[in-house]
Amino acid sequence: MPPNAESAAFRSALEVIRAVEPRVADAIGAELVDQRESLKLIASENYASPATLLAMGNWFSDKYAEGTVGRRFYAGCQNVDTVEALAAEHARELFGASHAYVQPHSGIDANLVAFWAILADRVESPALKRAQARHVNDLTEQDWFALRRELGDQRMLGMSLDAGGHLTHGFRPNISGKMFDQRSYGTDPATGLVDYDRVAEAAREFRPLVLVAGYSAYPRKVNFRIMREIADSVGATFMVDMAHFAGLVAGKVFTGDFDPVPHAHIVTTTTHKSLRGPRGGMVLCGPELADQVDRGCPMVLGGPLPHVMAAKAVALAEARRPDFAAYAQRIVDNAQALADGLLRRGATLVTGGTDNHLVLIDVTGYGLTGRQAEQALLDSGIVTNRNAVPQDANGAWYTSGIRIGTPALTTRGLGTAEMDGTAELIHTVLSQTSAGANPDGTASKAKYVLDPALADKVSRQAGELLAGFPLYPNVDLG
Ligand SMILES: *Cc1c(COP(=O)(O)O)cnc(C)c1O
Repeated sequence: MPPNAESAAFRSALEVIRAVEPRVADAIGAELVDQRESLKLIASENYASPATLLAMGNWFSDKYAEGTVGRRFYAGCQNVDTVEALAAEHARELFGASHAYVQPHSGIDANLVAFWAILADRVESPALKRAQARHVNDLTEQDWFALRRELGDQRMLGMSLDAGGHLTHGFRPNISGKMFDQRSYGTDPATGLVDYDRVAEAAREFRPLVLVAGYSAYPRKVNFRIMREIADSVGATFMVDMAHFAGLVAGKVFTGDFDPVPHAHIVTTTTHKSLRGPRGGMVLCGPELADQVDRGCPMVLGGPLPHVMAAKAVALAEARRPDFAAYAQRIVDNAQALADGLLRRGATLVTGGTDNHLVLIDVTGYGLTGRQAEQALLDSGIVTNRNAVPQDANGAWYTSGIRIGTPALTTRGLGTAEMDGTAELIHTVLSQTSAGANPDGTASKAKYVLDPALADKVSRQAGELLAGFPLYPNVDLG
């Protein structure tokens, strides 16, 4: 590959776009500048490789490909078949799964596919059989009512939102909370850790059809062998949503009891978080659920995105290389260095540390809400997001936590020394920020006071930390 191939590719693409709508080309260029300049600690974000990004920008986007490999409802899908089969093969090999479905457009979509597959597999429903024998467009109003009647009231047990669970694990703002009667398990108030005895007790009482493990904001490993035993003890289907930590599974940092694939009946994931692929989702399962999972489109999903499946194939091929395992280990090393740096400076962390890619700071120790802390850090060039902590007194909007993660900065090449520097910057901002007051004198949960000169200084220091680690070093847009 010529040394300037990546620059040439992106420059040419922008030139072609600029000729039609220059403002879009400008926004794309500006996004690269912003990404390069920000200290990105959002635990769910990453930087996909140029090859992954380029695999998405082409005529695969023009193709309809409803159906599965070799069995499409549209003609002329041979090349889509090639990339979908490749993506699925890489996924099976990488994760040791017997079946991979790579069509879901996002993590939420992957979960919906899994939920329907589980319902279809587990619940005796003539209406569902009728529905699956036809195209969704041919279903009558009565069919839908019957489906609702026969599938309603199934039970799901998942991790509570404030302990780090995800909205799609049966919570009201998501359709899963309407599909299922949900109950959740929290974490031990003293340690912040999953208490498996309590999960087992909840399962015995509630008798869920589905037990869900997986999280967006839990900084520790989960023992999936124990969770599977709990599911088996009540006859539940065990599903793991590894959206956040799929990269750590792919990179063999999570093995044995902590690798969900051998223990779960079905595993869902995003492809764009620690796995570092294109924005999308995926489902892995054994042969028992494979047929139902493959019905994802059109039962649950819109038409597949062949250009994104092409990019998934590229990113999964990258994740099978030895350097990805080294990357995954560095993600965890960096998260632990960040946690240690914060603890040494006096911060309070949920569970007292981390053994994955994320750290959850309880910012009430700094006298702040999550919202105040998030904004103060943003003013200082540090991009994070606010997040509830267990039993959060400030609720889901203001919150008491800041969630930070290392997959993105680790991709850039930052190491443990820079994580200590990052901890210093975060601690400086949080300890120098104070809560603001409302006009009537009461304490505000949103307003805060931070000296702009300090924010500027930290911004500059953040820039200096990043300077040695250029993002997309072979992409020069001129
Ligand atoms: C991010 C996330 C999702 C949703 O992924 P999208 O691609 O945004 O739909 C689902 N589950 C968990 C646990 C997540 O962290």
